[in-house]
Amino acid sequence: MGLSYAEENYLKAILKLSGSPDGTVSTNAIAAQLDTSAASVTDMLKKLSDKELITYQRYKGASLTDDGQRIATTLVRKHRLWEVFLVQSLGMTWDEVHEIAEELEHIQSDRLIDRLDHFLGHPKFDPHGDPIPNAQGKYTLRAQIPLSELKPGQEGIVIGVREDETSFLKHLNEKGLTLGKSIKVITNDDYDNTLSLQVEGHELNLSGKVARNIMIKTT
Ligand SMILES: [Zn+2]
Repeated sequence: MGLSYAEENYLKAILKLSGSPDGTVSTNAIAAQLDTSAASVTDMLKKLSDKELITYQRYKGASLTDDGQRIATTLVRKHRLWEVFLVQSLGMTWDEVHEIAEELEHIQSDRLIDRLDHFLGHPKFDPHGDPIPNAQGKYTLRAQIPLSELKPGQEGIVIGVREDETSFLKHLNEKGLTLGKSIKVITNDDYDNTLSLQVEGHELNLSGKVARNIMIKTT
């Protein structure tokens, strides 16, 4: 089935927002995610519903059908494999690959993506620590909690980020908070979640907003 980039991006947005396969997502949430108007979201949802990729109920929102779910998961798989390729094989940094992968994910070739997966050694996580669905659409899950939820004295390792925007990742580069770094929480402000941390020998402060988007495996 030939889909436009826009149609594919809607399926991906619904998958991202739904959290679970049968979760329903509101029109407003999709509009906010894709930075567009509720009216254009409604038009697109009708189109995707006609193609039986989503179930759309007025006033309630949209959920993915099995076909929609499969296509959206494949897009995520392609996106994350391309990100691994760009970092691992082309030597790019984790803050410069997301936008390029947003384009590469739309290339339609199952053979290409299978070869890419094989070439990369079947990676399970992308450069941001996000799990890569396998060819059957299954993710590798692991225990992780947001840095903002750690208590003073707790220690862990940075294993992922929830945000892959360039500006956010550059900010982490400046702070020296990249994947694999060991951290220890010194203080965590009850009111606004401002944290002071020890990161491999040096101390730094972090806002609650940033800390919420950093995923930790506690040690
Ligand atoms: Zn990305």
